[in-house]
Amino acid sequence: MSHCNHGQDDHSHLIPCSEVLSKVYAFIDGQLDVRELEGFQEHIRLCLPCQELVKFEEKLVEMIKKKGCHQKNEIPSTLMDKIKQAIDVSSKP
Ligand SMILES: [Zn+2]
Repeated sequence: MSHCNHGQDDHSHLIPCSEVLSKVYAFIDGQLDVRELEGFQEHIRLCLPCQELVKFEEKLVEMIKKKGCHQKNEIPSTLMDKIKQAIDVSSKP
């Protein structure tokens, strides 16, 4: 919306990827406040890896909710390991 661009084409004002990763569950649960939500959404709009991660986590959470949390064996631990690894790798500088 800004028509006076100061040549700041980098996304340095964005929250870091690590913050997106740490807030992804709060985002899915709707626990972010308005400011956090804005920063979060702006980040995932511009950062494709985080966008993919959020989509993936959303699907996962939806799947867990559908299955019901009393059925603890629905998610293979290997899948959880892969997710943890993915988060671990992408949160490194
Ligand atoms: Zn990112």
